[in-house]
Formats: sequence, C-alpha cells, structure tokens
Amino acid sequence: MRTELHRQPTSPPTDVRNLGILAHVDAGKTTVTERILYLTGAVHKQGEVHDGTTVTDFDSQERDRGITIFAAAVSCLWDGHRINLIDTPGHVDFSDEVERSLRVLDGAIAVFDAVAGVEPQSESVWRQADRHGVPRIAFVNKLDRAGADLDTAVASIRDRLHTVPLVVQLPIGSEDGFGGVVDLLRMRALLWADDGTFEEGRLPDALREEALRRRRLLEETVAELHPAALEEFCAESSVSEQTLRAALRDLTRTGEGVVVLCGSAYRNRGIEPLLEAVVAYLPSPLDVPPVRGTLDGAVQERPADPAAPFAALVFKVNSTATGRLTCLRVYSGTIRKGDTVLDAGARRHERVGRILRVQAGRHTDVDTAVAGDIVAVIGLKAARAGATLCAPAAPLVLEPPNAADPVVSVA
Ligand code: GDP
Repeated sequence: MRTELHRQPTSPPTDVRNLGILAHVDAGKTTVTERILYLTGAVHKQGEVHDGTTVTDFDSQERDRGITIFAAAVSCLWDGHRINLIDTPGHVDFSDEVERSLRVLDGAIAVFDAVAGVEPQSESVWRQADRHGVPRIAFVNKLDRAGADLDTAVASIRDRLHTVPLVVQLPIGSEDGFGGVVDLLRMRALLWADDGTFEEGRLPDALREEALRRRRLLEETVAELHPAALEEFCAESSVSEQTLRAALRDLTRTGEGVVVLCGSAYRNRGIEPLLEAVVAYLPSPLDVPPVRGTLDGAVQERPADPAAPFAALVFKVNSTATGRLTCLRVYSGTIRKGDTVLDAGARRHERVGRILRVQAGRHTDVDTAVAGDIVAVIGLKAARAGATLCAPAAPLVLEPPNAADPVVSVA
C-alpha cells in the first residue's frame, strides 16, 4: 500500500500533551475519545459506539487501511497544542499493557460514570497511575442519565481514591435536563445546544448563590493545600481566578488534588472545557522530570531535549499490511528517517525506515521525531514492547519507574 508523503514540521515539545483516558469499562472512554477527535477536527464524522462506527473501535477500518496503530495512539490538534491520545486498556486483564501505556503518558483523564461513581477498574487503574506518578484530571460523564449526581460521584472520588476533589464546575439542569455548567473559575455559564455547539453567558440568577457557595468551597480547599492561594486567601479573604489556576496546575502535578469536571460525552456536552483543562493543568513532556536509564549499572538521566542523545521506549508493536509498526515514545533527542538505532537491552542495531504520525483514520510520514513525541516507526525488525531504543553512541536501558512495586489488581 502506498502512502502520500507529507512533510510536516514537528511541533515543539512544549505544545504536546501525551494523554491517556482511564476508565472502568462502559464509563464512556470510547465516546469521550470520539468527541475529542471530532471536536479537534481529527475526524469529520461523529461515530457512535452503538452503531459500530467509532474510530477507536476500528477493527474494520484497521483491516481496510492495513494499519493498526490506532490501538496504540492517535494524535490531534487543539488550540495550538498537539494532543497524543494513548490507548490504555480499561480491562484489568491487560494489566501489563496498562502498565506500559502508563509509562509513556504525561497525564490522564479519568472518566467516571455519574451514576456509578468510582468503580473497581477505575480504582485499580487509578492506583497504577499513582505508582507511575501520572497527573490526572477527572471527568464525571453521563450527567444526562437518570440518577446521575455529581456530588455523589465526587464523594466516591474522595472516599475511594483518597484524593482531594477540586470541583471547578456546577451542573446546570439535571438528568435529561442537563444542559450546561457554571465555570466556577470564570463564574460564567456554558450552555450547550443539541447540535453540540455552546454559548458562554452570564450566570443564571437562580444559580448565583449556589455558584458563589461552590466557588468559595473551591477557594478554601485550594488554600488549604497551596501556600500562594493560602496567602491570598488570608490577605484578601478570597482567591483570584489567576491564582486558582496556577494552584490547580501545581496540585494536579503533585497529585495532591484532582480537578473535577463534568458533562455528557454522548450529548456532546462538556468536552471543550475538558480539553481546556488538559492544556491548562496537565504537564507537557518538558514539565516532567528527566527519565532515568542504566547501562552496566551506571545510572544516567536524559532530559526532554531534542539536542540530547536519542532515547525512546517501545510501548506497542503491531503487525499490519503496511509492515511491522513499532510505537515509540521519544524521551530525549531526535530520531530521523534512515537513522540506525540501538536496541540497548538486546544489544542489536536496527534501522528506522519510516516515521509515522497518526491522525485518526490516516497516517502521515514525517522526517523526524523529537523528545516528547509519540510516533510509529516502520523498519524495525525485532524490537519488542518494553525495549529501549537509543543512539548507538550513547547506549542506555530506560528504567521502568517503580519496577519493584507489585502490580495492583482487582479480584
Ligand atoms: P467505554 O467502555 O468506557 O469505552 O464506554 P463507551 O464510550 O463505549 O460507552 C458505554 C455506553 O455508554 C455506550 O452505550 C455509550 O453510548 C454510553 N454513553 C457514553 N457516554 C454517555 C453519556 O454521556 N451519557 C449517556 N447517557 N450514555 C453515554
């Protein structure tokens, strides 16, 4: 199969979010993913889970296109940021795969069902993400369902995940009448129409008092955890939007709290603010500490710098009609088409034939990939999932983070 050759500049790593979506099966991971891809223009038709047309449930598409990379990662652009969505299997049976995908993520959206709240699989994946130090934001989905209740779901996040929920929205309407949210940072209302478009407007009078109460609660909770917010709270008995944003970003990255948003993916409500939160609170590859690796016992660090020696982790390998696709997270340096790289663990040299970036439904050839990128490579013959690829002149094997810890699983 022939592919068109597109030349695309590689985005600087500051603009990248390597993102996973973690959820109990049925909470809405596929629907949220679909809506993100639709909204970011990565796909032009909305798929529906129930009629089997979603891009991420793509067996038939994969066969048609002879490419299975979707199972690993898909890339889209939002507001000048490249968002790489990395698939994280929801089922505990794929625990090794979950572990591997968690290694290559810089942040995640945890999706919960607004009726069921925290469920066993979401709990186990949450703990795995804790062990890998993956910063998260929470999306309470299905607010349109009968029996949906944000407060109950938030209580289960607090009680079962032992974290501090930082609720930044107040739902407008409930169950079938769920139509929007109050953004508690801007104190503005966001209202969605049936076609998924939304309008921002003034707070409805009926919600003003409740919104003020919740904003106050958010300020108090944040001030308890964050010194700059506390200082402002003590001096002015309130915390500004700007300070709140900076504090929420810090608390997300340290894992001291989790920003909670809500919506209905099915009805296309709440996805834009979710993407805004991804960009605002979750880290870019440059914000995370350098990876560590070893060779013959000597520990080395590699920064997320395109000029540093190349090092990448293979996190998935797929055989397709296009060839053997090796999915990589580049941690440091730059890889170019035609480069020879070293599979450090196997002590074997491999040649990079093509480098592909995947936008839903299509893959695009690129000449280079840099630190922070997630790409697939064709041409590697033997490198397995979990292998480190590096510059032959600067060999190392990337360390699995917290490898000594047992894998948490749910009976
Ligand atoms: P996954 O297993 O986590 O990937 O969940 P899916 O995205 O496949 O969703 C599971 C089911 O819930 C499907 O039938 C979806 O149509 C439905 N669903 C997803 N999001 C929503 C939502 O916001 N509201 C309602 N009512 N149903 C939803």
